[in-house]
Amino acid sequence: MSLVNNRRPLGNSDLRASKICLGTMTWGEQNSEAEAHQQLDYALAQGINFIDTAEMYPVPPQGETQGRTEQYIGTWLASRGQRERIVLASKVTGPGDWMTHIRQGPQLTRAHIREAVEGSLRRLQTDYIDLYQLHWPARPTNFFGKLGYVHQPGEHTPLEESLLALMELMQEGKIRHYGLSNETAWGTMKVLQIADREGWPRPLTVQNPYNLLNRSYEVGLAEISHQENVGLLAYSPLAFGVLTGKYLYGQQPAGARITLHQRFSRYQGAQAEAAVTEYVALAQEFGLTPAQLALAFVTQQSFVTANIIGATSMAQLQENIATAALELTPEQLQRIDAIHKV
Ligand code: NDP
Repeated sequence: MSLVNNRRPLGNSDLRASKICLGTMTWGEQNSEAEAHQQLDYALAQGINFIDTAEMYPVPPQGETQGRTEQYIGTWLASRGQRERIVLASKVTGPGDWMTHIRQGPQLTRAHIREAVEGSLRRLQTDYIDLYQLHWPARPTNFFGKLGYVHQPGEHTPLEESLLALMELMQEGKIRHYGLSNETAWGTMKVLQIADREGWPRPLTVQNPYNLLNRSYEVGLAEISHQENVGLLAYSPLAFGVLTGKYLYGQQPAGARITLHQRFSRYQGAQAEAAVTEYVALAQEFGLTPAQLALAFVTQQSFVTANIIGATSMAQLQENIATAALELTPEQLQRIDAIHKV
């Protein structure tokens, strides 16, 4: 029997997506093509129909692996022939290195977006992408806070130009809908305002980090989601694996993401460590693993349309997908809030 059997509408569209979305960011770096296909087969058998990827995955140290994740999904789609069953989401970042994108905002010009979508369609071996997301706003933001943004003045693509390019792609049938990512409440309202003013379709979703260590959705975007019917997709529900407790007390698990890449250290530090220690103890008291507690918390939030999970092994994937059947009680949620101290 499948574990993820209900579907939720994405925004006001006819798309129906599973509440667990399969993230793919590690494929082509920590995971081989065969492992990626195994994850896809298992996820689909468990009722997941929603897959999230990006032209820039796996986030490369120097750009040499960019696009490999989409290639792996493309070979799977070509061999399995299940395209119509899948809600396929990808993202455009535009040219350049990813750290610059985060600090300054990518150049999301019409030409860059058109070129990017052609590349994604080719690698994914499909004629259309269901949900095409602007990976970062084309302006400097401090959404991640801790990364030490430098707010640099500069030439940024006007939002109208990026949106117009997406409208063209929708008309051409290359993308069915569009969404935002790493966007603020202000930026989301701005896009809604322009779309309404121009009579264009609205974005279906916003995809930002949301987890027990980063509950920024609850300030602004959750309200927008309810009031404006914009779906919120939660990424990094385990805070890059930190919420499993496996990095506590200076542990360096072999092959794990943060051990491999310092760039994923956003959720480390004394404050995070103290909170994770408390969440690990709470999970134990509830008879759950720390990962189960963290993932169930995200999935059951009323403003979260889908929880985008990631896994580097089948054991992780099985544990994470199984949390779709968990529901924390109001008392358990209160105990979590007491640790978060909002
Ligand atoms: P998580 O925070 O859930 O981290 C997933 C990682 O944690 C895994 O790769 C694995 O890494 C570890 N892990 C997962 N499950 C377990 C487990 N049960 N026990 C122990 N360790 C576990 O999510 P991600 O940060 O990977 O994000 C998920 C997806 O969201 C991505 O694949 C991508 O699709 C999307 N995303 C979007 C972004 C955006 O800018 N829009 C940014 C980031 C992600 P390891 O084995 O190495 O420890």
